[in-house]
This record gives sequence, structure tokens and C-alpha cells, in this order.
Amino acid sequence: MTNSETHTGGARDAGCLFCSIVAGEVPAEIVARSEHTLAFCDLNPQAPLHVLVVPTAHHPSAAALAAAAPTVAAELLSQTRAVAEQEGYGDAYRLVFNTGQAAGQTVFHAHAHVLAGRPLDWPPG
Ligand code: 5GP
Ligand code: ZN
Repeated sequence: MTNSETHTGGARDAGCLFCSIVAGEVPAEIVARSEHTLAFCDLNPQAPLHVLVVPTAHHPSAAALAAAAPTVAAELLSQTRAVAEQEGYGDAYRLVFNTGQAAGQTVFHAHAHVLAGRPLDWPPG
């Protein structure tokens, strides 16, 4: 699953879409960067603001990230707030970490969804 190639932040997974975005090989609309994270617009936005914040190193889920690199997990959480504020939605936004296929995870590189700009129902679907 992983190969030995490295890039800023750590190991990458050769077949991973978000690792390819981090590497600049797949285009994305970048909105923010920090030492160990990258934030870019979701290709299929579900709200006026829909940004994904990912660790630059490959971790398959938020759970794996929290276990393997808790300081990067904390940095990522801080970045979600920075992105919401930067984009003008600091007062009200939703974070989603789909973790596992049954919970809706489709890309197996940890990512926070930052959603804002419309009323967001609860419970989620
Ligand atoms: P998940 O379902 O794993 O929680 O979220 C994956 C997200 O990645 C989805 O919201 C989907 O729209 C987004 N996505 C899938 N492919 C691409 C892509 O190539 N570029 C970008 N920017 N987002 C993508
Ligand atoms: Zn990856």
C-alpha cells in the first residue's frame, strides 16, 4: 500500500488521490497550508463553504492520524478553524470526519470536511 517515496510532511501512498493533490500532481483549489496540512476545496461542494483539510503525510483515517501523529491531528484541527475564519464563516461551521466506509468515508486519506454558509440539519443523513 505504501511506497518509499517521501514528500513534505512524510510518507505518501502511491495510489492515494489526496497524496497526489498534496504532491501537486492532481490540481485542486488550495485555500490554506500549514507545516503539516493542506486545505483545498471539495470537488463536489455540499455547502457554500466546503473545504477539506488533510495532513500532508498519508494516514488512512482520522482515527489512524490521531493514533500515529496526535500533534499533526491537533494542527489539523487548528487549521479547520483558521480556514473557517479566513473564509468568513468563523461563527458557524461544521466539521465532519467520515471514518470508515459505513460512515461514508470514500477517500482513505484522513480529512476534515469544513462546511458552512447554509443551515445544517441535525441529525446528519
Ligand atoms: P469522504 O467521503 O471520504 O468523507 O470525502 C471525500 C471527499 O473528497 C468528497 O466530499 C469528494 O467530493 C471529495 N473529492 C473526491 N475526489 C476529489 C478530487 O479529485 N478533488 C477534490 N478537491 N475533492 C475530491
Ligand atoms: Zn494519501
